[in-house]
Amino acid sequence: MHCPFCAALDTKVIDSRLAAEGNQVRRRRECISCGERFTTFETAELVMPRVIKSDGSRQPFDEIKLRRGMTHALQKRPVSLEQTDACVNRVMARLRAMGEREVPARLIGEQVMGELRQLDQVAYVRFASVYRNFRDLAEFRDVLDHLDGEADVQHR
Ligand SMILES: [Zn+2]
Repeated sequence: MHCPFCAALDTKVIDSRLAAEGNQVRRRRECISCGERFTTFETAELVMPRVIKSDGSRQPFDEIKLRRGMTHALQKRPVSLEQTDACVNRVMARLRAMGEREVPARLIGEQVMGELRQLDQVAYVRFASVYRNFRDLAEFRDVLDHLDGEADVQHR
């Protein structure tokens, strides 16, 4: 990293330690040219990708909307809030891990279906039927068959 004082191209790390309960690395650096010292902080990039809607428009990722969709499908089902939270977190972690700046809304919906499928079959079918807006039962079955393969890939 460049020296912020003299813009020399190289600085060396003289100390490195965890900060913020292990979520951050704090590094003391020293410039090889001018000898000035400074500190850098390194944290994981936790920014969520933007969402590409089916009409091509972009929207900020909305965690509340994601949670609401899942909670709605899980209404009166024997699933705890903790389990729902864990699902939401897994979906978000997977989206972040893709490292994309934008992801199609469809892909988020499929992630949610993958989670609900593991969690509660009734909620899964509820969510899938609303989400996919099936025209007939045959189409619905097609999607279920198709999802079997996808879910295996996602949870490998
Ligand atoms: Zn310097």
